[in-house]
Amino acid sequence: MARAEAIRGGWGRAQRLRNGDRTTTGGSGWGETSPWDNASPFHNLGALPQPRRRTLVLGILAILPLAVSLSPASAADALLPDTRFATPYYVQDSGRPGPTVLVTGGIHGDEQAGAAAAEEIRTWTVVRGRLIVIPRLNVPGLIVGRRTIPEVDTSLADLNRDFPRVGREEPPRGTPATEIWEFAKKQKPTWLVDLHESRSLHGTREGATGNTLLPCPSAEMDKMLPVLLTAINATLADPKERFVAARRPKDGTLSRAAGEHLGINSLIIETTKPGQKISVRVRHHTTIVRALLVRLGMLERP
Ligand SMILES: [Zn+2]
Repeated sequence: MARAEAIRGGWGRAQRLRNGDRTTTGGSGWGETSPWDNASPFHNLGALPQPRRRTLVLGILAILPLAVSLSPASAADALLPDTRFATPYYVQDSGRPGPTVLVTGGIHGDEQAGAAAAEEIRTWTVVRGRLIVIPRLNVPGLIVGRRTIPEVDTSLADLNRDFPRVGREEPPRGTPATEIWEFAKKQKPTWLVDLHESRSLHGTREGATGNTLLPCPSAEMDKMLPVLLTAINATLADPKERFVAARRPKDGTLSRAAGEHLGINSLIIETTKPGQKISVRVRHHTTIVRALLVRLGMLERP
């Protein structure tokens, strides 16, 4: 069971990546050959004229389901297969008992650092428990660099407001949220970390959440937050940039719903988009997630 799930979830591909084989036949599709200093998920297409770029993007999307179906490592590892929301997920089972951590990115399509960081995190080797990563929850939004899902009813367009709200026994709203929610319920993670970016650093204006952690309160979260803050802030020289814990995630978000309805230790990481290279924002995400996994005994200390 453990082995089958690991293979299905792209474990073999992760191993190949660590061994220096940067080609991939699965659905990950972007950004694996370069640093993250380029804003678009399809950044290599940026130099092409519009019609060619559009043709190439459509071509990539057209072959994505085919590539997924041809790769044994990816055969069952896409959510919403054969739809425009199709997105790969990666389940790595260490084969040893321990926590299950679900890391998600790209639920807002203009927050590329979260998706890029998740693509990196999915290649890490865990020695205990399971690491599950869905790098790009909102593929249509990431393709066009927009926060919301293009071409859906405006009431559903912000995917991170489509999950069951506090105090209501209700299903998620819309197909992508429904599929993601069912996946989360099935996998039963003990921790969920959703990777985001903010437009303003905390303290620079009312409600700004750049460089903050937004936790759903729990006894375990209370103990974990200082660990995460210490780890990331040890890397930041400017006191103004240091991460702080802020309010809980907004109602209707995946993370809030996971905390409220599923009892998962759930957390949003918000980096700050303006004025910082994507490589820096990715490093902030990965530093915090690494600290979590080390604390949970899932990663060897670096
Ligand atoms: Zn966001």
